[in-house]
Amino acid sequence: MGVLDTICLSKVYGKGENKVNALEDISVSIEKGKFTTIIGPSGSGKSTLLHCMAGLDNPTTGKVILDDEDIFKLSEDKLSKLRRQKLGFIFQRFNLIPVISVYENIVLPISLDNKKVDKEYVYEIIETLGLNDKISKFPNELSGGQQQRVAIARALANKPEIIFADEPTGNLDSKTTEEVINLLKMCVSKFGQTLVMITHNNEIANMADTCITIKDGKIFTNTK
Ligand code: ADP
Repeated sequence: MGVLDTICLSKVYGKGENKVNALEDISVSIEKGKFTTIIGPSGSGKSTLLHCMAGLDNPTTGKVILDDEDIFKLSEDKLSKLRRQKLGFIFQRFNLIPVISVYENIVLPISLDNKKVDKEYVYEIIETLGLNDKISKFPNELSGGQQQRVAIARALANKPEIIFADEPTGNLDSKTTEEVINLLKMCVSKFGQTLVMITHNNEIANMADTCITIKDGKIFTNTK
């Protein structure tokens, strides 16, 4: 068993002529503390798989087991608490809140959960990501790469077990992409987290411990 396992996961969208088998019988095991990438052509089911793994979308059949728990058997309240406390998300669009500072953006998910901010830990992340001199600025005063680093810091701040990233560098130039991926890898090894990332970029896929290739909703290869 991994930190997260999917068991015979299938997802069907639509009905009749419009029916799409977005995922078919996907069983994968995500290893703790490892960097896994999901690659495949556009429309192959990558985002659907990531969203099901992260409890953001319900599969049609099959299970997602996280820490021995079938996450779709949980009530909506418990599932959203699990997402807030155990999972971190980084998307292509940074989704930062423009009217609050960088620091407030980073600690927002913790504050929303009424938890105490572990300041020492948060500052370690800020320092690791090279954001020390940016924390009192507003997101629109930062470059794209810097904003993505803030989104990474926000995802790491509540110490999630697993970080899910959907094309997190899709909007960044190649130099910034490399920088962001290296920082993410460093954070994962430094803070012992597990990283699952969708990418179109073969160079990024080569940097991962495991690479899952999806085609037409099915696993094509799963290599280490
Ligand atoms: P990828 O992330 O690899 O580009 P997706 O997981 O987004 O692929 O989509 C897989 C398939 O499911 C595609 O054929 C897509 O059109 C379809 N799909 C995704 N989301 C929906 C939806 N909400 N309603 C209907 N079809 C969808």
